[in-house]
Amino acid sequence: MIKVSNIERFATHDGPGIRTTVFLKGCPLHCPWCANPETWSVKPVLMHDERKCVRCHSCQMTCKEEAISFDPVFHLDVSKCTVCGRCVEVCLPDALSVNGKDMSIDEIISEIRKDDDYYRNSNGGVTLSGGEPLFQFEQSLKLLKELKKNGYHTALETTGMYSLDKLKRAEEHVDLFLFDFKHPDPDRLREVTGGDYETIVTNLEYLLEKCPDKVILRTPVIRDFNRDEVEKIIRWAAERKVREIDLLPYHSLGKNKWNDLGREYPYEGYPLMDKSELNEYKALGESLGIKVKIGG
Ligand code: SF4
Ligand code: SF4
Repeated sequence: MIKVSNIERFATHDGPGIRTTVFLKGCPLHCPWCANPETWSVKPVLMHDERKCVRCHSCQMTCKEEAISFDPVFHLDVSKCTVCGRCVEVCLPDALSVNGKDMSIDEIISEIRKDDDYYRNSNGGVTLSGGEPLFQFEQSLKLLKELKKNGYHTALETTGMYSLDKLKRAEEHVDLFLFDFKHPDPDRLREVTGGDYETIVTNLEYLLEKCPDKVILRTPVIRDFNRDEVEKIIRWAAERKVREIDLLPYHSLGKNKWNDLGREYPYEGYPLMDKSELNEYKALGESLGIKVKIGG
């Protein structure tokens, strides 16, 4: 069994063609702009959508752990909640949900099979994302092997935060690495995301040496974090013969999920970034022999 956050069909930004993206639970990082914070914990999490809630208090009356209170809005005491799901069953407007379920590899593959025609006609395939898709390593490896056995093109949207040994075991089953590179300064990277520069760069350099065609670098561009480092990142990548970088301008798509988890969104009120702000880096990349795409 592998812990799955979500399976998204008809994805078009997670690799070539039309794809199914399997979002797996668990992440070693905690980026404050994360669009999928519900994947951080490998365990299931209860989510509450305040916009749907009619404050009927049925959930509170159902919860034996007394984890729910209203002051006057819904409040969850995460330390008391066992994620039993009873409150979800009584919530008629579907304001409550549990994110994270155990699925067998066969169940995931049969979900993926539904769109075989689309993958074939568009040169698409399957992307594993998260969270960090290799966080549940042995299960993820089994899934990758099974996907390849069934003839699917496989992509991995990855933080690079795992041992080189694990990467070496997974690499042959992955056709494309969408590899996050967030900041060239190890201290800043650790301070903001919890990522370890040494580990990530060791893995990235291994891939660039062994299979450069299989690597696309991905950099979320965030003001106050790495907006002023983009040029440095492109030059850094050029030195290492990276072939393509996708610059992903900051968006606030994860905001509601932060709220649904009862967490304060760190970028509340923060201006969105226009793609055109990053145009100048396309030319720079081309002059250095790197394809630069803005957006995924
Ligand atoms: S049961 Fe649902 S709608 Fe009613 S108060 Fe709880 S979360 Fe809100
Ligand atoms: S999931 Fe269970 S323990 Fe958690 S708030 Fe709902 S009823 Fe209570």
